[in-house]
Amino acid sequence: MLLLSGLLAVALPGDAPPPDTAPVQAPFGSIVVAQQYRDAAYAEGMAARAAARKLLRLRGICLTITDARRAPSPWGTTTADGWPIYPWHFGPGGPPSYILRHEIGHDLFARYLIPSTKLGQYGTDAPDWLDEMAAIAFEGAAQQRVRRAEAADLARTGRLPSLRDYLAMTHPELNATRSADGASQAATSQKTAGFYAMSRAFYDFLVARTGKPDIVVEPARAFRQGQDLQIWLLKRMNQPSDGSGLDRLDAALGEWMSEDARYRLGLTPGTIVSVAADPKPQRHLTGRCRIDPRLRHYSFSRAGMKP
Ligand SMILES: [Zn+2]
Repeated sequence: MLLLSGLLAVALPGDAPPPDTAPVQAPFGSIVVAQQYRDAAYAEGMAARAAARKLLRLRGICLTITDARRAPSPWGTTTADGWPIYPWHFGPGGPPSYILRHEIGHDLFARYLIPSTKLGQYGTDAPDWLDEMAAIAFEGAAQQRVRRAEAADLARTGRLPSLRDYLAMTHPELNATRSADGASQAATSQKTAGFYAMSRAFYDFLVARTGKPDIVVEPARAFRQGQDLQIWLLKRMNQPSDGSGLDRLDAALGEWMSEDARYRLGLTPGTIVSVAADPKPQRHLTGRCRIDPRLRHYSFSRAGMKP
């Protein structure tokens, strides 16, 4: 994944505000983009809102998607009512990248599930794998295919990180910002590929084993309660909590990947995956923006807004 995500996309000097960006209402909140990009913003917003409900159990989320050049801040920010505003670059070259939804996943996870209270960390106070898994879970069908193909390829060639390493990893992109020389950056990019691919594969595996697309909510709760996530994970997956548990779980993951059709298919190199592969947005979702008041709303922090 590139560092050039939309939430990090500062409007370039000289960028004129796009014409015709009067706010329009959408079932998920509002859209502030030029008319020709409204359908794309609508589809992304609807998908993000549905993902918030299905994957993070956040009902009644309200969000604004805005052209980065119209945003009050180039970073994600918050309305007076406390709802998130997501700036994104809309322009020639098609609809917004899938990365927007990924970023919304990161942001909602940090707003409602686990806060980010410290400087110098990748995202929230949770281990980096959980941050990344929450965001990857938000991605659409086309990107899921790409991630699975990458994971399958890395697994075939022995380059997918072990579960033990993955759970202990500092996000490679955080390390990348600390190291400048070419050799360490090349090593970082290799690690980055494995980290993202493993985030997809391990999420899919957990969903397959538990039947819960919102599985991310469970370790988040355990983390807030101060539990050791590795021990929690082994218990949840019915593995012994001694040293053998992680290796067994890793072996089970590898076996599952080799049998799951989505990981067997792969992609032919150079395949162009259509960004229109997602199902049509469901227009029946209502636009009431009222989140469960029992949910804690952590104060917004830029630290949680990383790719
Ligand atoms: Zn991410």
